[in-house]
Amino acid sequence: MKPKLIILGPPGSGKGTQARLLAEKFNLVHISTGDILRAAVDSGKVLGQEAKGYMDRGELVPDGVMLKVIREKLSEDETASGFIFDGFPRTIPQAEGLTSILGEMGINIYEVIKLKVSDDTLIKRLTGRLFCPKCGALFNLSFKPPKEDRLCEHCGAELKRRSDDSEEVIKNRLEVYRHRTGPIEDFYRLQYKLKEVDGEGDSSSVFEMILEVITIS
Ligand code: ADP
Ligand code: ZN
Repeated sequence: MKPKLIILGPPGSGKGTQARLLAEKFNLVHISTGDILRAAVDSGKVLGQEAKGYMDRGELVPDGVMLKVIREKLSEDETASGFIFDGFPRTIPQAEGLTSILGEMGINIYEVIKLKVSDDTLIKRLTGRLFCPKCGALFNLSFKPPKEDRLCEHCGAELKRRSDDSEEVIKNRLEVYRHRTGPIEDFYRLQYKLKEVDGEGDSSSVFEMILEVITIS
């Protein structure tokens, strides 16, 4: 059976990077609500229009909207065999909603990986972050600078900064994480689903540690 995973951690903890690595290794569907929302904003969809204001301020998009997005995504049958959630759930109501959606699908066994990273590291990672709008590759001015200034090493496109990676908005996102998302760690801990991993190291060593804690059946 393919793994069914949720990856948790504050903005900048490396969730997105690890989720991609896991998705690639186990051939999982990678469900990043941040990516889904950004794509909806870029293509001018109604969802994007609803979400943009919240995202620009570093606030959360309302739970009802997010649960609808997830329900739709999970109804595509390829997701049934194996998936990794990245950026969802982010509140207790989202976690409860997900429990019932998965329950309806007969999925009760899944694992939750929590990446632990200090605030100092988070801020450094977020303020230096650059992404490639064309192929999605990620770089970081402090940790993984692109070989050629501001150009993607893989496809040559000009690298961009996410619009919510400004210092003001970053502070807000960290605060929102602590208040709204932090409590779901206990929600999963009490169900013995939570696996904590030190996320301070480079992405390949964090990946190794994740592989050690998850149980692939
Ligand atoms: P990060 O974890 O680095 O903040 P994401 O790409 O996961 O970035 O999310 C970016 C923004 O998208 C969030 O700040 C929020 O506004 C919105 N968002 C993403 N996922 C959710 C969610 N599950 N619930 C509410 N809002 C969300
Ligand atoms: Zn690229």
